[in-house]
Amino acid sequence: MEDQKREIQLFTPTFEVDECLAEIRECLEKGWTGLGYKTVQFEEAWKAYTGLEHAYYLNSATAGLNLAVEILKEGYGWADGDEVITTPLTFVSTNHAIPLAGLKAVFADIDDTNCLSPASVRERITDKTRALIYVGIGGNTGQYEEIVRICEENNLLLILDAAHMAGTRLHGEIPGREAEVVVYSYQAVKNLPTADSGMICFKRADFDEIARKKGWLGINKDTYSRTVNAGNYKWKYDVEYIGQKLHGNSVIASIALVQLRYLDRDNAYRRQLDTWYREQLGKYPQLVELITVPNGCESACHLFQILVANRDEMILALNSAGIYPGVHYADNTLYRMYAYAQGTCPRASYVSDHVISLPMHMKLTYDDVRYICDEVIKIAKEQQP
Ligand SMILES: *Cc1c(COP(=O)(O)O)cnc(C)c1O
Repeated sequence: MEDQKREIQLFTPTFEVDECLAEIRECLEKGWTGLGYKTVQFEEAWKAYTGLEHAYYLNSATAGLNLAVEILKEGYGWADGDEVITTPLTFVSTNHAIPLAGLKAVFADIDDTNCLSPASVRERITDKTRALIYVGIGGNTGQYEEIVRICEENNLLLILDAAHMAGTRLHGEIPGREAEVVVYSYQAVKNLPTADSGMICFKRADFDEIARKKGWLGINKDTYSRTVNAGNYKWKYDVEYIGQKLHGNSVIASIALVQLRYLDRDNAYRRQLDTWYREQLGKYPQLVELITVPNGCESACHLFQILVANRDEMILALNSAGIYPGVHYADNTLYRMYAYAQGTCPRASYVSDHVISLPMHMKLTYDDVRYICDEVIKIAKEQQP
């Protein structure tokens, strides 16, 4: 029909349905849907894909961030109230991990990549700073190498929240080996979609081992399985920590195993969409500000973000045209929990008021991107004073 109304969502997760079902079927037929089996297969596959040495599959990235900060704090003997530098422009689970561990979130400002600004980070370092959480917003590496250098120079541990970065490469390689710990998300709308799950990749083997215990109620099965009559003591274990239940399961890992096979293909198409957006919107620098992607960064293009003058009105107008964008993110210092830092990150506040995430997913066509860009430009022109 000629004027059938378009409906273009921000995210539309796309799965290799038959392959996923076949993989899940194996779990059901084997009678193994829990921890182990596919979770182990996926951990091995993820290590091979990223080149990272350890990988522990979790039920979310949030669980991974919480574990990461808690384990580093205990492992390095940080005191309550010690500081972790972080970004105000992120999903709030990045930042909650810090106070949850009894530490203080210190917010630094962002730069024109929407990632942490190295200059602002430098200004926030005190003798209480122990670590920095870096978020590659939208898959962008931002000034990651400079951040790594700052951490090395100042003896800070680097925690990489790579929730948007599945498949991002920097100078041809998956970034992360420089970090003490990297956390990925396979939440429903991320680049490697499952339903909910995540991965924590520690550099240190002993921390990986602690994470595996803490992610399963603190249980240590090794104590007795190593004894001579292991068979008789299968039910027996020690509990070394007050842990939680955070590990992933084989059904969801089945989806992850399949989608990993297509991650690079999917990301290549996302980069194509990104290129189309940039070609069309780049002609109107007075109306639309694009986000900088540094040389050498091959972004996973989880998001396509722009900055516009009248963001809230533009979203309403786009909605009327059947386009449903998003906002990533509201400046976290606007939230009551982090209000103590309000006004300390002016660029993040500005972006928080002006940023729009345009639709970015595998079902978009060139024609959709053109339609979206035409609408954005038309609306921006109408909004001009
Ligand atoms: C999605 C997301 C998370 C949390 O991931 P979950 O797997 O949903 O817990 C953390 N940080 C960022 C930047 C995210 O986008």
